[in-house]
Amino acid sequence: MKQVDADVVIIGSGVMGGLVATELAKAGKSVIIVEAGPRIKRQEIVERFRNSPFKMSLTNMKLQGVGSPYPDLPHVPSTYGEYLQQTGPVKYPTKYLRVVGGTTWHFGSALWRMIPNDFKLQSLYGRGRDWPIDYQELEPWYGRAERELGVSGMDGQDESGHGGEAWPPRSTPFPMTGLEPSYLFKRLSELLGKGGYNPVMEPNGRATRPYGRRPACAGNNNCNPVCPIAAKYDGSMHIDEAERHGATLLDNSVVYKIEADDAGKITGIWYRKPDGSNHHLTANYFVLAAYGIESPKLLLMSTSARYPNGIANGSDQVGRNLMGHTGISMNVMMKEDVWPGQGPTELLVYLNNRDGPFRKDFPSYKIKVRNTVPTADYAASLIKKGVLGSKLDEELKRMSARSLNFAIDFETLPLAENRIVPSKTRQDAIGLPVPEIYYSVTDYWHAGKTQGLLDFDNFARLLNADVSKIDTGYQDRQHIMGTTIMGDDAKNSVVNRHCQSHDHPNLFIAGTSVMPSASCMNPTLTGAALSLRLADYLLKTVKV
Ligand SMILES: Cc1cc2nc3c(=O)[nH]c(=O)nc-3n(C[C@H](O)[C@H](O)[C@H](O)COP(=O)(O)OP(=O)(O)OC[C@H]3O[C@@H](n4cnc5c(N)ncnc54)[C@H](O)[C@@H]3O)c2cc1C
Ligand code: SF4
Repeated sequence: MKQVDADVVIIGSGVMGGLVATELAKAGKSVIIVEAGPRIKRQEIVERFRNSPFKMSLTNMKLQGVGSPYPDLPHVPSTYGEYLQQTGPVKYPTKYLRVVGGTTWHFGSALWRMIPNDFKLQSLYGRGRDWPIDYQELEPWYGRAERELGVSGMDGQDESGHGGEAWPPRSTPFPMTGLEPSYLFKRLSELLGKGGYNPVMEPNGRATRPYGRRPACAGNNNCNPVCPIAAKYDGSMHIDEAERHGATLLDNSVVYKIEADDAGKITGIWYRKPDGSNHHLTANYFVLAAYGIESPKLLLMSTSARYPNGIANGSDQVGRNLMGHTGISMNVMMKEDVWPGQGPTELLVYLNNRDGPFRKDFPSYKIKVRNTVPTADYAASLIKKGVLGSKLDEELKRMSARSLNFAIDFETLPLAENRIVPSKTRQDAIGLPVPEIYYSVTDYWHAGKTQGLLDFDNFARLLNADVSKIDTGYQDRQHIMGTTIMGDDAKNSVVNRHCQSHDHPNLFIAGTSVMPSASCMNPTLTGAALSLRLADYLLKTVKV
């Protein structure tokens, strides 16, 4: 073969790129990871967080440059600002980090498996698409992903939410036992259980004992925006591991073009440094792992005379089928102290409507209990009302002990019109188009909302709580899926069952963007399982 820079070039250093890089580097392959953002140090993030007046995760990070612990640099503008251009009737204000290690630095670390029926939505319920593979095929890779990401969870739970036998089937136990439920979770389980709501404890990427290089979780409720002690998994851990096995990481290097020859072989990529200089890399194989907005944007930007619609886009499906977990939420004030804020930011969910024939009529959904105490928001609202001095203290204590937030995440369907394209009108500081997003929801979603509001009513009644706010404003839950969709048919999908481009056999896509259905659960574990399976296919079948 012609002399190339590496066996494999990986674009993006998040969890997906990091997993693939680690597997390949361990097998002795030469790997270059090209990452748009800078390297960051945990202690610097923690220090910035400590010095910020805003301690709540998302509130905090809305204020880039003021309160955010993460850098916001001109060549990788923050998605917490005006970076994403919205054109649809419903906003899709998704957030992702552009730093070495990627978005999992500040993720909630809920690491769920999908259940078997999530893979057969079309054949069972006449909605969306079926996957070309089934749960059984992915099951061993889920187990591998749980070990790689260090997931703690409760064996034996019915994660379909029906309060029955253990589900979905597992061939391996969780690597670590689950966290102990706090007083809040026990009390809620008691009260909501009377209405037939089955509590399910969330499997998550927090160590409950020393695990690899990670200490056990200390339960201080700081997980978003950063775990100060690295008890929670983040993608930088696999990048470090890949580098220990010989992979090379290029940071501050924004890939802006993928090139292919006339026969369909990917021949190289171009990346741009913050000073505007352009550089070229060649490899035998390429793995695109830049997450659900930047991956399709890059493919669509990579046009040429031979590929006028971009790379991997013979089906015209690149960037389409954008899915998320568009949601609603309810705030209530309890009449007793329940003390949220102990332990991680989320752990308890209700899944009574996760699966069943109802999915013909309305979507699957999850109700989660937010275990956070936004004290700064409470203080601001009280001060605005003129509450000051000892009364302010008293009220703050009462609100902190009794205010609760419940959030619903609905499954959405892959619709061709929901899509991301490179903007024709706006560019970032290094001259690259920003993502332009069109997003909408259908009557199917609204039918789910009606159902979810009934649950909110029931919750308030069972908890004997006063409802302070219901927000039905299409909340985005930060889970990007579908934009490089997987399928057996090259005419209506971007990658095949091995996450390999139908059009370019030496190009693979790692991440949640290949998922043909969204379920109602957080997607990172599914993306990680697919990425590990992809790496295995590259090593054993393709023989890179
Ligand atoms: C606040 C928040 C909470 C979340 N909580 C959960 C949760 O609890 N559970 C869950 O399952 N999921 C959660 N998610 C989603 C989760 O973070 C993502 O699924 C996961 O990070 C995706 O991993 P990735 O490697 O595909 O992408 P990323 O982690 O985003 O990494 C992609 C990397 O590619 C780089 N990149 C992008 N474009 C280029 C380019 N052109 N050239 C070079 N490099 C590039 C980026 O800089 C980035 O470092 C959450 C997300 C957010 C924002
Ligand atoms: S509760 Fe604290 S120690 Fe545990 S994962 Fe969250 S931030 Fe880390």
